[in-house]
Amino acid sequence: LIEIANLKKAFGQNVVLKDISLQIERGQVVAMIGPSGSGKSTLLRCINLLSIPNAGRITVGEQTIEFDGARTALPSERSLARFRASTGMVFQHFNLFPHMTALRNVMEGPVTVLKTPKAQAEAEARALLAKVGLLERADYYPDKLSGGQKQRVAIARALAMKPTVMLFDEATSALDPELVGEVLNVIKGLAREGMTMILVTHEIGFAREVADQVIFMRDGIVAECGPPGIVIDNPRQESTRAFLGRFK
Ligand code: ATP
Ligand code: MG
Repeated sequence: LIEIANLKKAFGQNVVLKDISLQIERGQVVAMIGPSGSGKSTLLRCINLLSIPNAGRITVGEQTIEFDGARTALPSERSLARFRASTGMVFQHFNLFPHMTALRNVMEGPVTVLKTPKAQAEAEARALLAKVGLLERADYYPDKLSGGQKQRVAIARALAMKPTVMLFDEATSALDPELVGEVLNVIKGLAREGMTMILVTHEIGFAREVADQVIFMRDGIVAECGPPGIVIDNPRQESTRAFLGRFK
């Protein structure tokens, strides 16, 4: 369902992703862990095309997009936008639109990008806010919501685009400890419903609990990849063990 083949990304001379290849089946939850600077965010941003890869191929569902260094022109803006819409991104710092209520935040993408009629977008947005437990906060602006609530609105907003895959970049690391659980519970619920997800996380216990596959990134490569029982509990490489040792 999701395939990444020979993906490369450099910022100037700094090669951040070196020939990444991986496959994710429909309904799988993948946890991505690894040291700071190893390229986790860059990989998610490339899948979402917020960053344009230098080379490689990305398939999400029915859509494939290929990057071929300097040799061919970039894919058209239209095909980039269509591709981007099939991936839902949730950021560490929520990135809600501050001048819109929770409800409007969730409706905005469907109305402006998908051209969903307003009444239908509103009904769907209310259903999604109910799903993340925030229907009674529909008319609140972001600055009147807690961090955990903001993040749950951000998740509802991403879901509103009906993405093929959800991408979470450290969705709980900016939250006060007592607010982490409510966001993890929403993510767990999505996992139970069979949503395909890639989660960059430092919550190792959570990764062990929900992930089907764990990817350990180091220096722009997939250093280890496999079920949590192996990568987290019994890693092959010394450097993975050293990294995980910090969380024990
Ligand atoms: P962290 O755990 O700290 O979030 P990460 O694994 O997500 O780290 P990335 O943010 O992907 O790491 O960064 C990988 C490398 O790419 C770093 O060396 C970073 O400086 C570089 N980098 C990321 N984004 C850019 C950018 N827009 N321009 C230049 N360099 C960048
Ligand atoms: Mg990062």
